[in-house]
Formats: sequence, structure tokens, C-alpha cells
Amino acid sequence: MELTPALQEDFDTVVRRNPGEAEFHQAVREVLESLGPVIAKRPEYVEMGIIPRICEPNKQIIFKVNWQDDAGRVHTNRGFRVQFNSALGPYKGGLRFHPSVYLGIIKFLGFEQIFKNALTGMPIGGGKGGSDFDPKGKSDNEIMRFCQSFMTELSGHIGHDIDVPAGDIGVGSREIGFMFGQYKKLTGRYESGVLTGKGLDWGGSRARTEATGYGTVFFAEEMLKLSKESFEGKKVVVSGSGNVAIYALEKVNKLGGTVVAMSDSSGYIVDEGGIDLEQLQDLKEVRRGRISEYAEANPGARFVEDGMIWDVPCDIALPCATQNEINIGGARALIKNGCTLVAEGANMPSTPDAIRAFAANGVRFAPGKAANAGGVATSALEMQQNASRDSWSFEHTEERLHDIMVGIHERCYETSEEYGAPGDYVVGANIAGFLRVADAMMALGVI
Ligand code: NAP
Repeated sequence: MELTPALQEDFDTVVRRNPGEAEFHQAVREVLESLGPVIAKRPEYVEMGIIPRICEPNKQIIFKVNWQDDAGRVHTNRGFRVQFNSALGPYKGGLRFHPSVYLGIIKFLGFEQIFKNALTGMPIGGGKGGSDFDPKGKSDNEIMRFCQSFMTELSGHIGHDIDVPAGDIGVGSREIGFMFGQYKKLTGRYESGVLTGKGLDWGGSRARTEATGYGTVFFAEEMLKLSKESFEGKKVVVSGSGNVAIYALEKVNKLGGTVVAMSDSSGYIVDEGGIDLEQLQDLKEVRRGRISEYAEANPGARFVEDGMIWDVPCDIALPCATQNEINIGGARALIKNGCTLVAEGANMPSTPDAIRAFAANGVRFAPGKAANAGGVATSALEMQQNASRDSWSFEHTEERLHDIMVGIHERCYETSEEYGAPGDYVVGANIAGFLRVADAMMALGVI
């Protein structure tokens, strides 16, 4: 899609300033493509330089992480924290440990996070971090030493009123525990609100583990309600088998749908009878095994090593693994097989041409910055509980999460209508998120 000349100029500056960061360019362009009508209506945003300011992180921290493996060998990784925008509150966003991590990935995630956090309506700014460390195949002690070394470098840049990291790919409650322990030791403070995604016994929130997956399904449920549909009887494909995917599966099951396929980076499984939640949790959360083992243990299931999970026929697709996992080929396969709704549990899993294909073929589409905002929203609820030294019940927290997702859906839908694109959740999410941040930036002056 064409950008207006002024937005094209802003985009060109982003590309020139951030060479080689393709994912960051993609994320910026996708937001700018929605903003033409906003800028036309509110020229003061241009005068105050809101677009170039929002595209430039407040701070980018890059550091070295040395750690020792079990054999005594020393390894060096690179750590990142991008503190993108704090107009609405302290920086908030996860840490990703994956070998593909580099500055461009962290910046794309941090940029998305600004608008996602704004959509939640909560007082949180946007940031993201991580490392090119690969946790796969590492012992618990190696993970601990890496996390401690990572936190030794990061600790000086975070705090409950400054920047509050959480988990993402490769970072779950085990890693958050090791990092929180090291932060506590370095600072001599039990500052619960410095990290979210903590264990329940040491400051965590009930329903945080489940929140992103549940939230994505709640969002999709709201989309279905508009056409008087529900998950009941629907066939669903969920990519990934990590934190987001597992709890999306659980909630789809509760709402009467059937998840027939899931994946990891080595391939996908198909189980037409419905993937068994308990078995998958034991395999992935306890034994940290590969998804192929599920098919080995279940005669009714099969494992496909080479191929695309999107070839599996479904009514609803929930991409919950990683960025750009649905390309145009994946989108065409979904459309051909009759998929009518795609809601992104992962961040930016659909490529721009896939999104265009969904729009052209009437597939309802929810972008990650709206559909997966339940995770960060519940992190903000964890911060609230930490600040008041309180601990809420699962039911209460889930109810808050549900209300937040219904609110985000409403905000996105109404904004899409207001800007002449009813039901276009990309437009709705980008504009609604942008307006909240831009207005706060205007109010705070040029700083
Ligand atoms: P996770 O627990 O580490 O699980 C990631 C899953 O995706 C694993 O099954 C992994 O398979 C698969 N995967 C990763 N890279 C892949 C690749 N290149 N190709 C195919 N599969 C790949 O991470 P997560 O927390 O569920 O996060 C999943 C997505 O949701 C990410 O995009 C993340 O940014 C987004 N998200 C997460 C949260 C949250 O609260 N956790 C909140 C909002 C958005 P392997 O094990 O084989 O690598």
C-alpha cells in the first residue's frame, strides 16, 4: 500500500537510520500505512514531529553476556534492551532468548509493543529485549548462569518505575526466576515489580501464564460474535507449542472448538480427534521435548517434518509461534481450505502480502498487537498486585483479562468504523494505539 508523501519521507528516514533491520522496517511500515487519515485530520502531530519521534527508540542498550557451560567453557552472547517509548508509563515488554535475535528483531518487537500496550488502556510504555543465546539443549545450571550474567548487565537499566521486562520466546518462569534472584542479590531489594511472569509463590499473578493464549481466543471470540458465531464445533489450527500456543489450545477446548494441528520449529502434528492438552503440557512444559514425540505416543496423530501447518484445513487459524510464519503461500492455503478467521497470538506472524490476501478474500484478521495484548495486560495486573502487596484469585484475574480483551476489541472495531474501514482490525488497532500514545506525547511536550 502506498504511503502519503510525508509518511513516505518518515519511513525512508527509518530505513536509512536502521540499515539491514528488515523486521523493524516491516513493523513501522505496517503502522504508517494506517496513519494517513489520522495525519490529515490532526496536522499538529506533524508539526510536533510525532511520527519521527515515535519511530526512534528513547534508548538502545547493547551489552556483552559472558557465561560458562557445564564443561567450563566460556561463551559470549549479545544482550539487548530497547526502551522505545515511555509516554504512557514505564517501559514494558518481554525478553526473547533465541539464536535469531539481533537489534532489528528487538526493535520491531519494541515498536509493536508501544501500540499494543496503549491499546490495553493501561499505564505502560513500550520496550523489548533479549539475547541471541539459544536455550535449547542447555542444562538448568547453564540457563541459570546465563540468566545471572544477563541480569548483571541489565540490572542498572530497569526498575519498577523505569522498565519492567517479562518473558517471550525462550524465556518462561524458570528464566524469570533466575533473573529475579540475581536482581535481588545485586540490589539488595525485594523489588517484586521489576519483572513480570514471576512464579506464584514469589510475586507472580495467577492467570499470567495463560493470559496471552486465553486473550487471543477471547479476542477471536468477540470477532465471531459479530456474525453470531462461536468456537463451538470449529476446527482450529494453532502454530507453535510454547506458552502462547498451549493456553490458546486450552481455551479453544473450553469454548467447544477442536485444535487439529500444532507445531514447533521441527515440524507439525495433526490429530483430527483434537490435540490432548495434558499430554502436550507434559511433553512441552515438563519434559521440554519435541512435538514429534506427541505423534509417536498417539497412533491417531501424525507428524509432518517438511511442510506447512497452514495446509491443514481449518475454520480458524491462530499463529502462535514466531514472526513471518504465514507467508503468501500459507495464506493461500488457508483461504483455499475455507479458513475464515485468523487471530495472531504471535507478534507479526503474517507477512504483509498474506494480510492483503486475507483482506481480499474476506478472511477476518486480527493483528498481534491487538489479539495478543492479553499477556502484557495481565503483566500490568501483576504490577498492580505487587504494588499493593496483594494476590488475586484466578477467577478474578481471568475476568479482568476477559474484560480487557473485550475492551480492546471494541476500541479496534469502533476506530475502524470511525476511519471508514469497518472490520479492518489492522487499521483499528494501529490508529487507536497510535492516538493514545501521540496525545500523551503532545501533552508531555518536546522532551
Ligand atoms: P515459547 O514458549 O518459547 O514458544 C515458542 C514456540 O514457537 C515454540 O513451539 C517454538 O518451537 C516455536 N518457534 C519459535 N521459533 C520458530 C521458528 N522460527 N519456526 C517455527 N517455530 C518456531 O514462546 P511464546 O512465549 O509462546 O511466544 C510465541 C510468540 O508469541 C512470539 O511471537 C512472542 O513474541 C509472542 N508473544 C508472547 C507473549 C507471552 O506472554 N509469552 C505475549 C505476546 C506475544 P521450538 O521450541 O522448536 O523453537
